[in-house]
Amino acid sequence: MTFHPDTLCPFCGLGCGDIGIDLDESGITPRPTGCPQADRLFRRSAAVPTDARMDGNAVSMDDAIAEAARLLGTSAAPLIAGLAADVDGVLSALSLAERIGATVDHERSDALFRNLAVLRRFGWSVTTLAELRNRCDLVLVVGPDPATAFPRVWERWVAPEPALVPGGARSVVFLGGEPLPETVQCLGSRIEASGLGSDAGPDLAALVGRLRAALAGRTADGDPMTALASRLCAARYVVVIWAAGLFDNPQPDLIVEGLVRLIRNVDGTTRCAGLPLSGADNVIGANQACGWRTGFPLRTGFNAGAPLHDPERFDWRTRLCDADVTLWISAFRPEMPPFATGGSVIMLAPPELAVTTEPALFIPVGTPGIDHAGDVFRADSVVALHTGALIDRGLPSVAAVIGRILSVLAETADSKEEAEC
Ligand code: SF4
Repeated sequence: MTFHPDTLCPFCGLGCGDIGIDLDESGITPRPTGCPQADRLFRRSAAVPTDARMDGNAVSMDDAIAEAARLLGTSAAPLIAGLAADVDGVLSALSLAERIGATVDHERSDALFRNLAVLRRFGWSVTTLAELRNRCDLVLVVGPDPATAFPRVWERWVAPEPALVPGGARSVVFLGGEPLPETVQCLGSRIEASGLGSDAGPDLAALVGRLRAALAGRTADGDPMTALASRLCAARYVVVIWAAGLFDNPQPDLIVEGLVRLIRNVDGTTRCAGLPLSGADNVIGANQACGWRTGFPLRTGFNAGAPLHDPERFDWRTRLCDADVTLWISAFRPEMPPFATGGSVIMLAPPELAVTTEPALFIPVGTPGIDHAGDVFRADSVVALHTGALIDRGLPSVAAVIGRILSVLAETADSKEEAEC
């Protein structure tokens, strides 16, 4: 048995670097972290099936690669989705998309685009997790508890005493997420009551609007919103945190827009910045890589010969209806959302994935940070984290598999050219 202390976790985007991993001939066992995602997703068996499958039957990797290249190379409307891979995997997927004219999108891009829609319209002032931990003395959490999706956000980034705040005092106010879940227990006495109680109902856009009205001096003296507005203005550095993916409202971008405007209002009096959390399965890294390569964010298509971005048309859920071949990439977790498509599906996923409908082609791949090294972006977009390999189970990376598909496509194109000459 070997012990790997301080292993970096690549899953939700918080980048916890303190995971203890026990490794023996049976596989990987994480030491309990209090994080349900890490405790579940790091647990892997050493012996897993490494065969690819075609229509449910085991085939060699060479045959699987050849079939993937045939399906993708002859597709009229290919889609590359899921896109849950390390940065190298995403870059190789973008190369493939350019080559075959595919559309690219990440499984978790919804939360990202709820934020980007507002960033596009108004711009915004956002900060980093390090600023939150070290400089912020008042945290305003808006909406459902972000720890639902980012389990250790309070323990790692808010509960510690801020190094650069005189006296180390920090308070946390929750707005619209009441009643508070157990996940906030570690904040203890740092939690400050908003005074709104059950008044802080589920209409987050209205709630944020009321707080903005209070900041503008349009609420009465006894109104708890007036007190909260004064509290924000009296702080040294306010950070407003939200997880847009958890907003369960018909127009979630309206809430984000309200928050962006609220931050501007407070920033006129004291320092204030936002911290939108939306980083699981390297969605931030995928978006960055798409930007480097094309100048556009995710939800970009290459079927017009040049990259074209459309956040509605190229949403993967919309494109599934038209796609005759979908390459689904899910390297981080042996889980996937249910989806239906009339076309063929090629799946690159960990071998532990229990599929409900057998795809045309299943190619097992390793997980970054477990089977191979790789880079992923932290949820605040500013830090690329390098994860190492823990175990060799003979599983290729997404980049390696797509690299081989691209080679076969290039060879096929060369042979065709020669035959035509
Ligand atoms: S909070 Fe996120 S980064 Fe931290 S251990 Fe859990 S899944 Fe991993």
